[in-house]
Amino acid sequence: MATAVRTLRNFIDGQPADAADGRTEPVLNPATGQQIADAPLSSAADVDRAVAAARRAFPGWRDTIPGERSLALLRLADAVEARADEFAELEAVNAGKPIEAVKSDEIPVFCDNIRFFAGAARILEGKSAGEYMEGYTSMIRREPVGVIGQIAPWNYPLMMAGWKIGPALAAGNTLVLKPAETTPVTSVLLAEVAAEFLPPGVFNVICGHGDPAGQALVTHADVDMVSLTGSVATGKWIAKAAADSLKRVHLELGGKAPVVVFDDADMGAVAEAIAGAGYYNAGQDCTAATRVLVGAKHYDDVVAGIAEQARGLVLGDTLSADTTLGPVNSQRQRERVAGFLERKPSHAEVVTGGRAPDLPGFFYEPTVVANLQQQDEMIQREIFGPVVTIQRFSDEEEAIAWANGTPYGLASSVWTRDVGRALRMSKALDFGCVWINDHIPLVSEMPHGGFKQSGYGKDLSQYGFDDYTRVKHVMANIQ
Ligand code: NAD
Repeated sequence: MATAVRTLRNFIDGQPADAADGRTEPVLNPATGQQIADAPLSSAADVDRAVAAARRAFPGWRDTIPGERSLALLRLADAVEARADEFAELEAVNAGKPIEAVKSDEIPVFCDNIRFFAGAARILEGKSAGEYMEGYTSMIRREPVGVIGQIAPWNYPLMMAGWKIGPALAAGNTLVLKPAETTPVTSVLLAEVAAEFLPPGVFNVICGHGDPAGQALVTHADVDMVSLTGSVATGKWIAKAAADSLKRVHLELGGKAPVVVFDDADMGAVAEAIAGAGYYNAGQDCTAATRVLVGAKHYDDVVAGIAEQARGLVLGDTLSADTTLGPVNSQRQRERVAGFLERKPSHAEVVTGGRAPDLPGFFYEPTVVANLQQQDEMIQREIFGPVVTIQRFSDEEEAIAWANGTPYGLASSVWTRDVGRALRMSKALDFGCVWINDHIPLVSEMPHGGFKQSGYGKDLSQYGFDDYTRVKHVMANIQ
């Protein structure tokens, strides 16, 4: 299955489809650099076909009753669960993920997310129907937005597809999903599996690059809303392009999560927990615990503890159960990560790692860089690789200023035994999520989304669901 080169096809109107001009490109396994699939290189013509299919399917899907949409999503989750091993193997070889992590974390989370939105489909509500002017009754209708263009990143291809299609389909929208060009494999399989439960045209997939396929989707006149999970630069491009038609935009962008460890933190498991959340998915996580801020008392212990954890990670074949750290996504991404280390300031101390190991594929050693200062590039910009930075702060005020002192605002954590401090910090931290004495867990019921340049709009939860609906006021003269 994973060893043969798969031929991927777009999925349009319930059918596999080649790119209109027949062009394809190789898809690689980042752990080996070997080709695992051939994917269509879609253009504006393919986007046109997919959007037209989604538009044709929209009235029918919009008018299904919530119970029907809910059942389709529940069946989809069951079908993915039944084929979990196949999905996990494909995700492992396409996205460079240790297979055990995909099996134990990502597939169950995907299924739970989809089941949550299956439930949410049935509890849509408007605030209140009633008489707000004498002789008139008002009510709220919650409606789907229409045809949604959904653009996904490469770090969690299947899970991000789930975060996008779950609320969109539950609310009665139809969609065109464009996975990242390097990781289309499980998205194509997902659409094929979903076709058993969804009418043709409801869920379409287009493979290809941001330019031209992504851009054609964003600028398409018949797309009502665009949702992106991706980089800040792409988010800005999309927000500007969408302004021309004023279509709705939903942006989950980069992050630079601070991990604030106070002197009164319970140090028992701090280094292990931070390293676990910093090196998970090779640090290619928008909430990764990669920007550690520590008070003076524990600074040395935290530096040594995270370095020890980093040295204990096992790099290698992502299909091996022993592997705990995969490669980064591509040669380009590895060069990007390495560039930060090459440009490091003279005061930076590389405690461990800091280079590419002698392995095939696109691995980078788990790295700890200590003694960094607030304006250093490694603190200000998202690295998106297995690099944890550590700074020493002197007091709570400085910790807050540094934690908030980057352009991002997605996620953060505070580590302390002082309840008052934990609550003060959760107010002061300018992020869409604050974890207390932990970092990275997510649940389907709670929102995920950023502030500042991490974007706007929420994934997961009822808030995420609401983002894929529109509110209509109906006012009747009842005299
Ligand atoms: P990217 O922005 O380069 O690409 C994301 C997607 O956008 C890809 O499918 C790409 O083909 C497409 N794209 C690129 N340019 C486009 C354009 N002009 N128009 C339309 N589509 C375009 O990001 P990436 O490198 O694939 O992903 C990593 C980024 O995603 C990181 O910054 C990470 O923090 C972020 N991310 C955020 C979240 C979140 O929930 N906030 C989750 C995962 C990843």
